[in-house]
Amino acid sequence: MSPINLAIVGVGKIVRDQHLPSIAKNADFKLVATASRHGTVEGINSYTTIEAMLDAEPSIDAVSLCMPPQYRYEAAYKALAAGKHVFLEKPPGATLSEVADLEALAAKQGASLFASWHSRYAPGVEAAKAFLGSTTIKSVHVIWKEDVRHWHPNQDWIWQAGGLGVFDPGINALSIVTHILPRLFITGAVLEFPENRDAPIAADIHFRDADGLPVHAEFDWRQTGKQSWDIVAETAAGQMVLAEGGAKLSIDGTLTFAEPEQEYPSLYRRFAEIVKAGTSDVDLAPLRHVADAFMLGKRKFVEAFHD
Ligand code: NAP
Repeated sequence: MSPINLAIVGVGKIVRDQHLPSIAKNADFKLVATASRHGTVEGINSYTTIEAMLDAEPSIDAVSLCMPPQYRYEAAYKALAAGKHVFLEKPPGATLSEVADLEALAAKQGASLFASWHSRYAPGVEAAKAFLGSTTIKSVHVIWKEDVRHWHPNQDWIWQAGGLGVFDPGINALSIVTHILPRLFITGAVLEFPENRDAPIAADIHFRDADGLPVHAEFDWRQTGKQSWDIVAETAAGQMVLAEGGAKLSIDGTLTFAEPEQEYPSLYRRFAEIVKAGTSDVDLAPLRHVADAFMLGKRKFVEAFHD
């Protein structure tokens, strides 16, 4: 089968860090064009708008949309309307309804839509799911604390409405939580907003499941020094720690699973799989929890944030 002719829209940090190397190593894809206002990829036809790109490059089969979430719907709509398969970076959109709309359009067009969640493909996630499925979970603590100045310098969009603030990394934790734990819902949350920003810098969230399983998540962007991306579960079979964003799994302090990180190569393998199968993969559970936190959460204003 000939490769899927792929275009990228929104050439920025994640495209250079992850998409380009993963696409280059995957024989199912051939990068044929990019659309970005400023960014380009050497040796690849580049356009400044998705409209110009789709007009000029009819051979495009699929597009990866890697711009900030507030600007993704318009591009996704245009690509799907033109019959292209679409890979959405996380979070898949700025609202639940716009992504549901895209899902319906993809089905109508017979195109594949992929709402990607890279952290779900972290090495220890499946082993954690298997462990938790084999025992009784008593409680869960999610700690996702990082330094926004280090990881998101000069990203104004992330602080604007729809940019999600601390939920931009926090939704990665939620994408793992919704994959490895029973179905949860939020019972209370406190969101801390810098007084000069439209998105939260920290969030403290409590969830439970139908049987009362307590799950507590702490997201904070003010962490300097050691960074934390950990999920700790107390279970009948001991304490499980899924650490470093899903990379390492320990049970009662013994490392039981650690393999090299393969998140984006796995995402592109999955995208090829759904394109070949003629299906879509759109799980909105992580984004739904974020929406619920904004809906149910108390707001606290905290000191202004300056880069
Ligand atoms: P970024 O570099 O700030 O943005 C990506 C590109 O989108 C920019 O270079 C820009 O390209 C384009 N863009 C920016 N603002 C735009 C606007 N208003 N309208 C249209 N295009 C715009 O961000 P990123 O870190 O790559 O993140 C992009 C997405 O990937 C986010 O949803 C993020 O959550 C996700 N992600 C990021 C990381 C990471 O480590 N950075 C990891 C995983 C997932 P042009 O100026 O050339 O148009």
